[in-house]
Amino acid sequence: MASQRILVVFGTRPEAIKLFPVVRALAERPGIQIRTCVTAQHRGLLDQVLDVAGIVPDHDLNIMEPNQSLDRLLARLVTGVGGVLDVEPIDRVIVQGDTATALAGALASYYRKIPVAHVEAGLRSGDIYHPWPEEVNRRMIAPIADYHFAPTETAAEALRREGITHGVHVTGNTVIDALHATLARIADTPSMTRALDAIRPRIAERKVVLVTTHRRENFGDGMQQIASAIARIAQRDDVAVLFPVHPNPSVVSVMDAMLGGCDNVIRVDPLDYPTFVSALSLSHIVLTDSGGVQEEAPALGKPVLVMRETTERPEGVAAGTARLVGARTDQIVAGVMDLLDHPETYLAMSRAHNPFGDGKSAARIADLLS
Ligand code: UDP
Repeated sequence: MASQRILVVFGTRPEAIKLFPVVRALAERPGIQIRTCVTAQHRGLLDQVLDVAGIVPDHDLNIMEPNQSLDRLLARLVTGVGGVLDVEPIDRVIVQGDTATALAGALASYYRKIPVAHVEAGLRSGDIYHPWPEEVNRRMIAPIADYHFAPTETAAEALRREGITHGVHVTGNTVIDALHATLARIADTPSMTRALDAIRPRIAERKVVLVTTHRRENFGDGMQQIASAIARIAQRDDVAVLFPVHPNPSVVSVMDAMLGGCDNVIRVDPLDYPTFVSALSLSHIVLTDSGGVQEEAPALGKPVLVMRETTERPEGVAAGTARLVGARTDQIVAGVMDLLDHPETYLAMSRAHNPFGDGKSAARIADLLS
């Protein structure tokens, strides 16, 4: 049997986390040669995951540039991935999610008539400006792809509503595979999460509110409202706020200015993936505007308050594990206080069913592609 050469293209931390299980599952299949191309759209955060996942990319385009416009970024990504496709004989390309890298990977493949498989297909908020520009990135990949790996039935249904009926498969979200694989590695090698040792004494017996924020839609006023909420939550002495701060200057500058005097807010640099998974495990409540964190927290029984107006992951809200609180101080604080002060609310959210998968998504994807 002639072997199939598959190029997996990714550029950011969440793509790498969600694709490493797929890369591993495909690499084990006979008849498949797996190649990887990273665009390094987010260099530092991507490299943390590559190290942990043990992936040495076959192509590294290193396209990061400070303050580049979205159009310039997309142009560089399309020509970058296109250049790889011009030198490597590739039978299929895999992209994930909704980044500029994913759209560029799909477009460059389409221009060469190379089939594209889309992992995490069918997420829709219904609003092209929330999240921006990701909602349009993922919608534009849909007509190009021939395989659409939808994480949930809701996502598959969204694709069908757009007339995409062929090649749609509900696989679960590969982030749950990544989470399970990482929990198993931590259990084998607890020293992997040594970075938490320095933080634990500052947490002591208190309940951890784990915060992440980086959404472009929340830059400016939203970030200030989030910072005010964190400062108010941190006034409680039964709580410690653990906050790995995203390196984007629009996040760092606000948090430096507004949380400088809050001893009870443990601000740290972004944690490598295993350390972040450990932090999730020890947390009590998760406060986030991240997509991936919304999916991981329910798998660990952690209630999630989502600091967004809309979510393309309504399954968490429907299942009762997540609640939308927007990027508004009063609502964020009220949501956290409710969970801290009402054990029955807390239990209901933490025991709700995780709707995002069973950790076997990558194997399903590999079965379908091979
Ligand atoms: N994450 C991490 N370290 C951190 C914060 C987050 O490894 O300090 C992981 C997290 O577990 C999740 C992913 O990064 O899998 C989410 O990435 P991000 O929030 O940047 O992007 P999004 O999911 O919103 O696209």
